[in-house]
Parts: sequence; C-alpha cells; structure tokens
Amino acid sequence: MNNENAKGNGKRCIICGEAKDGLPVKEDFVINGIRLIKRYVTRNEKGYVLVVCRECYPKYKKARERMIRRQVVYLVLGFLFAGAFIVLSHDKLSALLYGVIIVLFLYLLSLVNYVPGLVVPNRTAAGSGEQKTAAKVIGKR
Ligand SMILES: [Zn+2]
Repeated sequence: MNNENAKGNGKRCIICGEAKDGLPVKEDFVINGIRLIKRYVTRNEKGYVLVVCRECYPKYKKARERMIRRQVVYLVLGFLFAGAFIVLSHDKLSALLYGVIIVLFLYLLSLVNYVPGLVVPNRTAAGSGEQKTAAKVIGKR
C-alpha cells in the first residue's frame, strides 16, 4: 500500500506520521495555533498539508470520538465546578471570574492530544455510509 510517488508532495498523515495521501484535515483554530507556535516559538514549522491516510482512518475516527467525549466531560466538569464555586462563594463577582478561569483551564486541558476534524465530515464511516449521507443531503433539496 505504500506509494513511493506520494512522498515529497508535502502531505503528512497525522496518525502514522508518514508522507501519504489521504483526507485533508480541517485547519481550525487549534491547528492554526499550533502552526503559529511552531513558526514563532519553536521555529520548526514544516508546512505539511495534514491528512489522515486510508490505513489510519479507523484509528483516527476512534481517536476523534474519544477526544470529543473527553472534551464534553471536561466542559461539564468545568461548568459544575464553576457553578458550585459561584453558589458557595460570598463574593459572587470574583467567584464568577474564577468560574470562567476554571472552565477555560479545563477546556485548554481537553485540547491536549487534540484530534482535528476533516474537511469532509463523515460521521457514518466506511464506504456506503458516505454515500448514504450524501443521498440524504441531496434528498432534502
Ligand atoms: Zn496514516
């Protein structure tokens, strides 16, 4: 499955780290943030086009789902902590401020091991699922 010709075209799989063709990763604010850090702080920006190769797709999908679940848990925890803090505190204004900081902190924590989305979102996975989704979209019009 390794295609030697695909190497050197600047594409890199985010899962296996190999130079392979695949589905392009969405350049969201986290990816752009990492790029900026690499450009200005660590100065090791490679300028790759990030993709998920076909072999890694099932692994990627699991990792992405796990990350989204973790993000939801962290945010729920953050809001619970913040809520409790505000309720229990006498100084509501500074409690609110701390609450916001708690939520932001947990959100940032949830971005560790971040798994970005793909340009073509495809929740229903392999093969026919993709066509089904497309048919549904077309059917609505
Ligand atoms: Zn891969």
